[in-house]
Amino acid sequence: MKNIAVIGAGTMGNGIAHTFAQSGFKVQLIDISEASLKKGMDTITKNLDRMVAKAKITEADKAETLGNITTYTNIEAGVEYAGLVVEAATENLDLKLKIFKQLDAACGEDTILATNTSSISITQIGAVTSRPEMVIGMHFMNPVPIMKLVEIIRGYSTSDAVTKIIMDLSKQLGKTPTEVNDYPGFVANRILMPMLNESIETLYNGVAGVEEIDTVMKLGMAHPMGPLQLADFIGLDVCLSILNVMYDGFKNPKYAPCPLLVNMVNAGKLGIKSGEGFYDYSESRKAEKVSKQFI
Ligand code: NAD
Repeated sequence: MKNIAVIGAGTMGNGIAHTFAQSGFKVQLIDISEASLKKGMDTITKNLDRMVAKAKITEADKAETLGNITTYTNIEAGVEYAGLVVEAATENLDLKLKIFKQLDAACGEDTILATNTSSISITQIGAVTSRPEMVIGMHFMNPVPIMKLVEIIRGYSTSDAVTKIIMDLSKQLGKTPTEVNDYPGFVANRILMPMLNESIETLYNGVAGVEEIDTVMKLGMAHPMGPLQLADFIGLDVCLSILNVMYDGFKNPKYAPCPLLVNMVNAGKLGIKSGEGFYDYSESRKAEKVSKQFI
């Protein structure tokens, strides 16, 4: 497998393209937006520059990595020679189903179709294609070039052979693939999101303030970031949407999103990306100042 197509050049897509290209694969990076492609390539270049400055790679490695990536705005042209497509477009069920129907029609019959979705069912995505046994979840973590885990999610119909190919390929990227089954939240978010939601509930119930909650978890549990800071980093809208998927999927109230989280998302306070969440990011992205709402 030499050619990898990546759909979506946003936060995750550009990281996935970077990682494959740095491991010697030819990458076709596809996005509907020219501006996103440009921004994605700028981010990859900046991240490679940082690696050169830290002497982790050479200027020649950087040039080779960039030379391995070609950009496209047309899906059909981009996936023509791909042995694997990794879809990392916006998290939206209808959009993903549409893209997978399009991929199924455009790709060769041996092409494996993977999705980086955080929460949508791999089984449901696979079912709209004529090759559900060749559809699999490849859930990379942000930032992709640095984080070692790839959660490999087997849909109901995903074959053993395809799972093995994707596990082996992930190892070639220097990652640690971990196989899980397709149930809401998979493993990473099923465990992480209730913890983040509980930290918001703890704040909502007035048990402690933002800094106190984060300090307990950082210093007491050796977490590199407190849960409220992490929720801001992930995006409160993303957290809410994943909790809703688990709540709907299991019909279990333990996954019900905290009303404070719902309120903050409705108010447009989404964390770092909007400039304010539990912390105020107007002066620094480092969660140094608690939002005035919580003082
Ligand atoms: P993003 O908004 O940064 O980027 C999405 C990109 O998809 C945009 O550039 C958009 O132009 C493009 N796009 C939309 N429709 C398209 C189409 N039809 N064809 C091609 N490109 C299209 O989103 P993101 O944060 O990179 O998330 C991408 C996927 O990765 C989602 O499924 C998300 O759940 C998952 N994910 C995100 C994170 C994270 O921390 N951000 C972590 C793990 C998984």
